[in-house]
Amino acid sequence: MYKIKVITRFAAAHQLRNFRGKCEKLHGHNWKIEVSLTGQKLNDAGLLIDFKDVEEATNGILEELDHSFLNEIPRFKYQNPSSENIAAYIFDKLSSRLNDNRIKVTTVTAWESDFANASYSG
Ligand SMILES: [Zn+2]
Repeated sequence: MYKIKVITRFAAAHQLRNFRGKCEKLHGHNWKIEVSLTGQKLNDAGLLIDFKDVEEATNGILEELDHSFLNEIPRFKYQNPSSENIAAYIFDKLSSRLNDNRIKVTTVTAWESDFANASYSG
């Protein structure tokens, strides 16, 4: 099994509902997003997938989130924009863009600081 990982970043504001703690107030994070894909067969060039294609697909999704107030994104109007839900949101969108009979998005991890992250694996 081959596994590749691509790391990208975005910055945004959020505010968690039904939550007591620092994140109930409006504030921002510089999220680091790690995307992992796996597959058993390489292509003719010896790659699972071009890193650039993964970066472009991920950045296409992050464009909507970058420098936004996440609570205003339709998916997060009622669902909290927690790192867990952000990871799941990116996982769902990226899976529908990149998954095929050879490659699968296996995990998306959202780091909201250097010390804390949440992952979603479907
Ligand atoms: Zn926060």
